[in-house]
Amino acid sequence: MPHIEIILPIYNELKNIPILVERLDQVRKKLSSEATFSYLFINDGSQDGSTEYLNQLHSTRFDIRVVHLLHNFGHGPALACGVQHFRGDLAVFMDADLQDPPEAITEMFQAWKKGAKTVVAERSSRAEKNKILFNTFYYLLHKVAPTLPPVNFGTHCLLDASVMARIKMLKEKNRYFPGLVGFSSPKIEAVPIHRLERQNGKSQVGLKGLIHLAITAFLSFSSTPVRLVSIFGLIASVIAIFSGSVIMGIKIFTNLAIPGWASTMSALAFGSGIQLLCLGIIGEYIARIYDEVKERPLYLVDRVLENSASAALSKEDSIFTPKVISL
Ligand code: UDP
Ligand code: MG
Repeated sequence: MPHIEIILPIYNELKNIPILVERLDQVRKKLSSEATFSYLFINDGSQDGSTEYLNQLHSTRFDIRVVHLLHNFGHGPALACGVQHFRGDLAVFMDADLQDPPEAITEMFQAWKKGAKTVVAERSSRAEKNKILFNTFYYLLHKVAPTLPPVNFGTHCLLDASVMARIKMLKEKNRYFPGLVGFSSPKIEAVPIHRLERQNGKSQVGLKGLIHLAITAFLSFSSTPVRLVSIFGLIASVIAIFSGSVIMGIKIFTNLAIPGWASTMSALAFGSGIQLLCLGIIGEYIARIYDEVKERPLYLVDRVLENSASAALSKEDSIFTPKVISL
């Protein structure tokens, strides 16, 4: 029987963890004749009591491992930590805020049984506010990065151990998770889901984090941004040659005075704007090269609460009837 390990990054999700575990337990019950389950929580420096809650949960159940990180490192590093600590035949990644339905795991597992090594939850529709922003991002990204899988997904996916072993070898620091999954998979199967609004609390990643992730996606899977620098330079040169020729023409063939200050200033502002934009793009590359060469670890582990999956299997009853833990 294959063993499925569910990998859950946690940052201040106290209210969501009990609901999430309950819903995952339902899925596990449904699949109990076909697969065994365990949960791997990556606690990314929570400060809202999630740490204590996970410790209690770990002490009452046999199917839970918790990796407490030293402090908050971010969603990407928490996922990378999940990849490193994974033990099982199949990994399921999902966020803890219930935006991705745990019930999709059943369908993903059926696809795996038919031979798929990578099954992702494709966001075929969304209930989120930033829908237009997300759709534009995926549209542009897939236009400039043809090597990426043309599937709109974030974290929620089921990966075979062979795919996990390949992702484990990828040591880059600026990580766009769906890109790494695509890079490491022979083929991607998709299960359509409706992406919901976050339950309890507001996005921990936030708009700033999403913009950073979007830039990472563009820079690490496409060389279009750096080519843009040359294209901007070319456009600015063409405009300069054209306006220069017009000015020379006026000077040589007419007696008209050449209009001065306003045109000079706007040409200057245009030129400097393009230069700064290009410097910014190159700066993004340099910042990321610096991140890579520093070789500082992506995350640091404070404590690991181990548990043996074999113990969990022999105490199946206690898995399904966990003690109630008060928040
Ligand atoms: N998360 C994390 N570290 C962080 C921010 C978020 O481990 O610094 C976790 C969070 O608890 C959730 C998942 O990553 O399980 C996705 O976070 P969130 O829902 O805030 O991101 P969004 O859906 O807004 O992209
Ligand atoms: Mg979320």
